[in-house]
Amino acid sequence: LKAENLVGGYEFIVGEKRVYVDAVSNVNIGFEESLVYGIAGESGCGKSTLLKLLYGFLAKPLTVKSGNVKLYISNNYIDILRLSDDVRRYKVWWKEISWIPQNAMSVLNPVQRIRDHFTEILTVHMDMDKEDALKYSLEHVEGLGLSKDVLNAYPHQLSGGMRQRVVIALALLLKPKIVLADEPTSALDVVVQRGVMQMLLDKQKEMKNSLVLVSHDMGIHAMVTNRLAIMYAGKVVEFGDTDAVFEKPLHPYTKALIDSLPRIGDKNPRQGLSGSPPDLSNPPPGCRFHPRCPFAMDICRKEIPPTIEIEKNRYVSCWLYAKR
Ligand code: SF4
Ligand code: MG
Repeated sequence: LKAENLVGGYEFIVGEKRVYVDAVSNVNIGFEESLVYGIAGESGCGKSTLLKLLYGFLAKPLTVKSGNVKLYISNNYIDILRLSDDVRRYKVWWKEISWIPQNAMSVLNPVQRIRDHFTEILTVHMDMDKEDALKYSLEHVEGLGLSKDVLNAYPHQLSGGMRQRVVIALALLLKPKIVLADEPTSALDVVVQRGVMQMLLDKQKEMKNSLVLVSHDMGIHAMVTNRLAIMYAGKVVEFGDTDAVFEKPLHPYTKALIDSLPRIGDKNPRQGLSGSPPDLSNPPPGCRFHPRCPFAMDICRKEIPPTIEIEKNRYVSCWLYAKR
């Protein structure tokens, strides 16, 4: 899956004025097979919006301004943003790519048993009859370590952790090649989080698909992702192997994120980043991080920094690394 020069955001009419919130601003990022990717950044930096665009979930007021999202299937690709709604919904979603939205538990239909959620996907997308669909669902949930009782329950009869497992099981039902998961554990108790995350990762290993994990929690990224993108104010400011990003962060914003993490045995207070992220309906010129950056130079206030490939699979967007 690959996003090229992707620009999108939210368009509102406020009084007489048209307001555009530039949530995803010229993002280029590629996701290879069989890897776990992380997308990190403060709330409001565009992580969830990027995920929606990658999935082609274009519900108003979200609009795409330009760019492509290419999904490679065999040796061909399709542009997710330019398919008809029907093709996207019935041929691509669930089968090739699936999305676990933020607060996904609440998308379960309260008046439907869990099994009906599963059988509906199978009858609609795979043309199965009811009986086969139920059999398939049973095998699928058991393969995920869930008991068949879960299928007979209504959503409200399940705990938060169990509902989230159900949502994940649904997303994996048709064995998509790529799974986009938006904060899949952040609504859960800490103790439950671990098990739910483990289920997602075990399945990723088994299915050898790719997983894109959005989280504001750098601890989760350090533990489970192979590659990491750091977003700030609608832009991917740094990208690389997760170990490399943590060991040698390049972008001043990434450094600040990592410096703010607690360390075992270190009793010094952690340094937080001062200031707050910019208003994306009126972003600052040049580098969007410049009002908070301790290294800001003149050029940073005027010109958007280029994205520089420092080495293979290692990118940073910052004037400090540009040869001028
Ligand atoms: Fe700081 Fe300039 Fe780099 Fe932006 S481009 S992060 S302001 S040094
Ligand atoms: Mg979000």
